[in-house]
Amino acid sequence: MAGLYLHVPYCRKACTYCDFHFSTQLSTLPAMVEAMQNELRARWPQGHPMATWYWGGGTPSVLPAASMEALTETLRRHSPLQPGGEFTLEANPEDLTADHLAAWRRLGINRLSVGVQTFVDARLAWMNRAHTGRQAQEGIARAQDAGFENISLDLIYGLPGTSLGEWQDNVGMALELGTPHLSTYALTVEERTALHHAIQSGKTASPDDARASEDFLWLRKHLRSQGWDPYEISNASLPGWRAQHNSAYWAGEAYLGIGPGAHSFDGRDERRWNLPNNARYLKAWAQTPAPPGPSNQPANQQTSQPSNQPTSCSESEHLSPLDRLNERIMTSLRRAEGLSRGDVGDHAKALDGAWETYVRKGWMLQTAEAWSLTDEGLLWMDRIAADGFVSAEDLP
Ligand code: SF4
Repeated sequence: MAGLYLHVPYCRKACTYCDFHFSTQLSTLPAMVEAMQNELRARWPQGHPMATWYWGGGTPSVLPAASMEALTETLRRHSPLQPGGEFTLEANPEDLTADHLAAWRRLGINRLSVGVQTFVDARLAWMNRAHTGRQAQEGIARAQDAGFENISLDLIYGLPGTSLGEWQDNVGMALELGTPHLSTYALTVEERTALHHAIQSGKTASPDDARASEDFLWLRKHLRSQGWDPYEISNASLPGWRAQHNSAYWAGEAYLGIGPGAHSFDGRDERRWNLPNNARYLKAWAQTPAPPGPSNQPANQQTSQPSNQPTSCSESEHLSPLDRLNERIMTSLRRAEGLSRGDVGDHAKALDGAWETYVRKGWMLQTAEAWSLTDEGLLWMDRIAADGFVSAEDLP
């Protein structure tokens, strides 16, 4: 099992653009911590060590220290982190206090993913973020002083009304902070968000695709000139600092997701997800279900596979070989290494044909081993991947 993902579905404020699963009603947080422990005990009664733990959300940095300790203790018993494993906490800048940072270090957290988004206060206010640019700068410096080296910053580009110069300043500030990893995302407008509503009612402008493309292309070029490795469409790092947890997702490895809205994958052909509904999750996992088999079975003889799970708050799907192949095409094209010819078997010749135009346009590089997208090609990734998808009729 590659990694464990824990979804903490709470935030202090709702950012205008966000469609992740979260609630701003923090009153159920203590019960949620217990429910997540119950889910973990039931799904993974005697789990294998994990290469990575990743706490995301939501905003897991809203968890009080005692809740984090309780969760960490349960994780250690049921899915211990391998020695030297990556333990990431997503944190918002306003939570980077000296006390929190010291407590997180004691728990063994060794990587922070900080939601900076921009250093410009007017934009942060427009996004309804709960922090200022200065808070982000000071919080990251405090994290470094507390001993955190492996820090990733999230930035958003393509905001309406911004210029390339503003994006360049943001990236410059991020690089000056001396952190080794960046995750960068174009602002997208998701339905049922406050941003979508504001655009529909004419209160704010839509993001501009041309602005986002220019920001993206400049970023990739600039990062390379500074010795960075843009190793995935949204992620770049200094050499040796790639994100291990997310890299395992893109490589198609197995992972276990705990918490409302979290997804799991068995590494072969089954994907399962908890419904993004806190109330249903709390009801389903209010108690740990009895383990399968004889009730007096000692813990060290129970199955080590996920088991005995309430079905009322989760769903699953079986992936056919075709689904797996098309997913492999999609996730591989995101990465600098691209799609290995060895991963597509007999379909390689058909892909040569499907992507010939893109190679000619300079959007794709084709070698004897793999196909990969150039920076320009990444702007068209969805279309290029879709043109390569295999359908049942294509199979011999
Ligand atoms: S803090 Fe993160 S998860 Fe929470 S609303 Fe904002 S963007 Fe979404």
